[in-house]
Amino acid sequence: MPFEEKPHYMQLPKQVLIGSNAIARLGEVGQNVTDSRKVVLISDKDVFQIVGNRLLDSLNEYKFDVETVSITGATTEAVDQAQQKIRKHKARLVIGCGGGSVIDTAKLSSARENHPFISVPTIASHDGLSSPRASIKQGGTSVSIQGHSPIAIIADTKIVAQAPFRFMAAGCGDLIANITAVRDWRLANNLGYEYYGDYAASLSIMSATIIMENSKMIRPNDIPSARLVLEALIASGIAMGIAGSSRPSSGAEHKFSHALDRISPKPALHGEQSGLGTIMMAYLHDIDWEEIRGALANIGAPTTAQQLDIDPKHIIKALVTAHEVNPQRYTILGNRGLTEEGAKRIAQYTGVI
Ligand SMILES: [Zn+2]
Repeated sequence: MPFEEKPHYMQLPKQVLIGSNAIARLGEVGQNVTDSRKVVLISDKDVFQIVGNRLLDSLNEYKFDVETVSITGATTEAVDQAQQKIRKHKARLVIGCGGGSVIDTAKLSSARENHPFISVPTIASHDGLSSPRASIKQGGTSVSIQGHSPIAIIADTKIVAQAPFRFMAAGCGDLIANITAVRDWRLANNLGYEYYGDYAASLSIMSATIIMENSKMIRPNDIPSARLVLEALIASGIAMGIAGSSRPSSGAEHKFSHALDRISPKPALHGEQSGLGTIMMAYLHDIDWEEIRGALANIGAPTTAQQLDIDPKHIIKALVTAHEVNPQRYTILGNRGLTEEGAKRIAQYTGVI
């Protein structure tokens, strides 16, 4: 039966500037995407200290009138604070430079004020740097909220290569997760629950495949590695922009990671947990989970709970409750999820615990 699809916008960035020292051309990119000179720059203390001057110099060169916002996390308060600054300054453009929290705050505050934003990631830890979705902390838990895609992305390969390698390895975990996410998407479509976009799915899988194939070449302090991972993350975010949802990059393995965020007293990085989830969900999908585990290990991304310093009992509990996260999104976990016995068997069999 063909699906009656509801129309959705495909959101795509207008410009992507990638390369070593790309950050120094922020002003030029800003000029390319807006006629206004009023801009709000969102970042955090550490990033301001390291690259703040270079960002401001570049914006000054193009005569931008800049207000800055320094945040400490992607919280509803931070988003409110940014929105107030945007309104007060009558800004027509928002720039977020930093890690996931900064990008997500810039994404959501600019979407709510109806102005475009430029994403300037300083680490490559997940595909939020290019996607329309934002993860915001409300009270104690993180919620995924629809924002909008960046109008431009500045991916500085040198800055990303120099960041602690753990982040880039996590980014690879988030990319490899596309393999099981797309399987889940197709499954939901086959069962008649939702539309499936072959193009977005293929683009998403391509990002995962390129990382799998190059898993032995990705290494710390290496600009070509940073470029490869950044390009894959950008393409993965674009796949979500095309699909109009996070479906191409978020399935049962992400439910597991979100469940772990709630359960574990000390959660690890999003991409690390998603990578672990991918190994186990690949087993459930009956695809080559050992190949996935091998690729993660080649990169230096964690493949066991021990490496993440997470108690095995929290892994089991996250597996058992994962299906309750975002229940309208159907995955291999079904509506009833795993039993404790089943969860234990899968985690042990795949060597996660
Ligand atoms: Zn993710």
